[in-house]
Amino acid sequence: MRAVSAEVKTTTCYMCACRCGIRVHLRDGEIRYIDGNPAHPINRGVICAKGASGIMKQKSPARLTRPLRRKAGAERGAGEFEPISWEEALSVLERRLKKIRSQDPKQFAFFTGRDQMQALTGLFARQFGTPNYAAHGGFCSVNMAAGMIYTIGGSFWEFGGPDLDRAKLFVMIGTAEDHHSNPLKIAISKFKRAGGRFVSVNPVRTGYSAIADEWIPIRPGTDGALMMALCAELVREGLCDREFLEQYTNAGYLVNVDAASRDEGLFAHAALEDRTNPFRRHDQLWWDRRSGRPVRNHSEGAEPALEGEYRLDDGTPVKPAFQLLRERLEAHTPEWAAQITGIPAARIRALAAQMGRTARDESFELPIAWTDSWGRRHERVRGNPVAFHAMRGMAAHSNGFHSIRALSILMSLLGTIDRPGGFRHKAPFPRGTPPVYARIPNGPDAVKPDTPLAGAPLGFPAGPEDLFVDADGGPVRIDKAFSWEYPLAVHGMMHNVVGNAWRGDPYRIDTLLLFMANMAWNSSMRPAEARRMLNDKDENGEYRIPFVVVCDAFNSETVAYADLVLPDTTYLERHDVMSLLDRPISEFDGPADSVRVPVVPPTGECRPFQDVLVDLGKRLGLPAFQGYRDYVDFITRFETEPGSGQGFLIGWRGKLGDKALVGEPNAAQWDRYAANNCFFHERMPEELQYMRNWNQGYHEWAQKMKLRRHPDPIMIQLYAEVLQRFRLAAKDKGPSARRPPPHLKERVAVYFDPLPFFYLPLEQQQTESTAYPLAAVTQRPMAMYHSWDSQNAWLRQIHAHNDLYVNPGTARAERIGDGDRILVESPWGEVRCTARYSEAVEPGTVWTWNAIGKAPGAWALAPDANEVTRGFLLNHLISDRLPGPAGGLSNSDPITGQAGWYDVRVRIARA
Ligand code: SF4
Repeated sequence: MRAVSAEVKTTTCYMCACRCGIRVHLRDGEIRYIDGNPAHPINRGVICAKGASGIMKQKSPARLTRPLRRKAGAERGAGEFEPISWEEALSVLERRLKKIRSQDPKQFAFFTGRDQMQALTGLFARQFGTPNYAAHGGFCSVNMAAGMIYTIGGSFWEFGGPDLDRAKLFVMIGTAEDHHSNPLKIAISKFKRAGGRFVSVNPVRTGYSAIADEWIPIRPGTDGALMMALCAELVREGLCDREFLEQYTNAGYLVNVDAASRDEGLFAHAALEDRTNPFRRHDQLWWDRRSGRPVRNHSEGAEPALEGEYRLDDGTPVKPAFQLLRERLEAHTPEWAAQITGIPAARIRALAAQMGRTARDESFELPIAWTDSWGRRHERVRGNPVAFHAMRGMAAHSNGFHSIRALSILMSLLGTIDRPGGFRHKAPFPRGTPPVYARIPNGPDAVKPDTPLAGAPLGFPAGPEDLFVDADGGPVRIDKAFSWEYPLAVHGMMHNVVGNAWRGDPYRIDTLLLFMANMAWNSSMRPAEARRMLNDKDENGEYRIPFVVVCDAFNSETVAYADLVLPDTTYLERHDVMSLLDRPISEFDGPADSVRVPVVPPTGECRPFQDVLVDLGKRLGLPAFQGYRDYVDFITRFETEPGSGQGFLIGWRGKLGDKALVGEPNAAQWDRYAANNCFFHERMPEELQYMRNWNQGYHEWAQKMKLRRHPDPIMIQLYAEVLQRFRLAAKDKGPSARRPPPHLKERVAVYFDPLPFFYLPLEQQQTESTAYPLAAVTQRPMAMYHSWDSQNAWLRQIHAHNDLYVNPGTARAERIGDGDRILVESPWGEVRCTARYSEAVEPGTVWTWNAIGKAPGAWALAPDANEVTRGFLLNHLISDRLPGPAGGLSNSDPITGQAGWYDVRVRIARA
């Protein structure tokens, strides 16, 4: 009998973004099956339906296998191409990009989807000299990243998460069932077996919520109100960890409350400035309860007042930040939140009590000694065992930034940050609040012909001076990220690109390069509009977006709109890195990264996009890409600065491969990873594993390992002075001379509130709730990731069409039966689909799976495929624009530019 497989190769899965280790079993060079790698720290042998179905991705009829050029005379969207050679394709691109670079590099826009190589693509854009670069974060979960990083210096998923090994209560909010998939499933299983209590807050009870001990249905877009009420209850009931707030947050910092002062709302400082970090001051004042005097924070023997109002020696009235928070929270009663969220007030009150009492009464200590940033030795680490996890359901609203600020503050009131049983960071986090390691340019002069961009294309503004705007306050980037419209758009705003380029607002571009981003379908709001814009011509008969390049492994809806198609490899055919410079696989106990190595040769003429970028970089003369043979060589030898010893991979550095994180390049590095199941994990000493925001030992180590530039404490920002700096500029005050344009002043003044506040999502504010009474949301199923899998023969057997799930009470009120065809209308469009009764959705919400419905002609599906005939795409009902000043604004969070995917209101009727 022949063995099922003769050879086993290990690599890293990419059927979703979780990066599990897999074993690929081959016979005669062909993949026979894929299973989980038991030796891998992320999934420990567990594999999901998607991961095991990777074999069918290889065999998909939708693969692109040759470079293609749109046929002369064919219209975009028709999908009429002729094959060309790679040399021809790259020469076309090289000529075009060279010309753009020599004239105006920002005419080249480069946007990528859910890729895992943003350190490389970002470097390419920066070296090219264009600011017009971003990945998918702006339309995914930037609110989660920005809201948390600006508050606690880290965020969920790749950069931190719940410590379920020691938590007793786990609260999950708005998390899709595939998110952080296998690792979270393993952790929840262990947590529940150990007797932990799991509460899920979500409009829909599927996936993780289905196995929660308690499901708390909530109306979409109202999570912020729940968070505010929970915070208020903790404060009211005295269930906060006061010592944690005093020592590790800015709760005791004194805020100038003189409304007439130029510095209103900013912290009061000691005369002597601390320069531990030139970008961040640490000399804010406390009001010392013992001496009854203002003192510099953390002065020896001082005890900060958290409440009250005081006067400085010069007469300036001040209040501790916590006092301002307390005042803000006063009106946010459970009864107030119940009206907004639909959750009974008693349940909110009980949840707050459960959180507060678990954190207080079940707290414990680990015998791990550590020294804090002020030189004080602690013999133990305390744990307050309440853990949270939240994601896109909370983030993808135009009010999400403040909701997530409120969640971060809730976690901080409970004293759970980087403590056992609470939220724990993963390297390279924690970073500053906000981080200053990547400085974005702050004016148009940063873009110069034939010159790399003077700054990073993406970063974290700390005030108006950091905005990327021109002398009139206008945006420099095509997506308007880091402008006064979206000052903290730290992941860029991919969802604005096609529309802005088409409108020429703020300018026209020449070439748009999309890498695995399906902008003509599921990655666009109102995709029909996006398709029209991609295909539209100006008065001279030229396309308004003159040249579109698409790089993808599969024939997505967007491919048909390309002028040039570059066929990418699959994850099983290429080298790849999950780098600490990007989105690593770090664990709570230390940094970790991983690689992919090819297990089969590329299909047809496919080339890894990584290789193509390095090749293109060399051809264009981009300085950072010169002298490398290919991507493999580039990853091995590239250093962030000459001789820095810091590169894409942290394992087996140094000539002998005996160094971790920092060390000279090692020619054998790829082999070492391949021999170690494709990952590297550096476990830190235990005393560096907790309280890392304020752990002196960790900071010294992190500085040595180039994870941090400065060893200063990372204070939790209950009160976000950064936001106040923008607000002051809008009020013609404050230290910055920069001012928002007149039409945006009020908007900046309202939304840049240094304390969290709740407002209804912008679209809901503008929609007549009686005409459109229902919220409509999507989520990804466990068996498919984004739009990636409708070409996968095995996974199509699980999901080949999608229905709209409606609470039976809601459906019956409209005389809709289970299985009826219905019409779903929003102010922006309508779709037809099948209604399905579901008790597992709150009555004011309808929902469906994301990206199952497909456009005819794409993904090599038959014209009568279920995805085309029975599936539907909710995006047709969601607008990318909202009415507003100066011709309207993007349907996005006014702070971060996060796309408001989950804000649409609809009505339903029998078709
Ligand atoms: S969760 Fe599944 S699809 Fe995602 S990386 Fe792991 S095995 Fe692959």
